[in-house]
Amino acid sequence: MHPHPVRQPEPRFVAEGEFPLWDEALAVVNRDLAATLPEQRPLCLIAYPGWEEGEDEHVHVAFESGYFHGNALPPEATAAGALPAVAEAAQETVVEFLWQAWPVCTLHGLGMHVSEDAGRPSWWCAGGSRPGDPAHVRTAIGELTTAHRPHRPNRKRRKKR
Ligand SMILES: [Zn+2]
Repeated sequence: MHPHPVRQPEPRFVAEGEFPLWDEALAVVNRDLAATLPEQRPLCLIAYPGWEEGEDEHVHVAFESGYFHGNALPPEATAAGALPAVAEAAQETVVEFLWQAWPVCTLHGLGMHVSEDAGRPSWWCAGGSRPGDPAHVRTAIGELTTAHRPHRPNRKRRKKR
């Protein structure tokens, strides 16, 4: 007999206010989701019981259906670490569910990665393959709306010349 039968733990949807740090971070990441994939409903948090008695619940960033992918959020995350952790978890869930890169840099068409810029968690893009088109930080996490505003190429170009 198998000494440890496989558990089928029941997940539960986390109520607002249970994990204030995660709530706050997820609200920021959901802004980016709404800006880039407006047809998607906001992501939410679900929790599974810990594997061991007395262990913390495992909290995941999920779609409303309960679908998620990737590791649980790190329970020991600090206020500063919450946003990058939630952004990465959201990215794993969205990418795996939709089978497409997310979020995508509109300049290069590449999936971006969580990074830090001047102390702010940001979306980083590897840049183009041509010289002079280096890796760059696109926006702070939560500010993709700004980056997705309709382009005004003329105005921008004039400014640069
Ligand atoms: Zn780019």
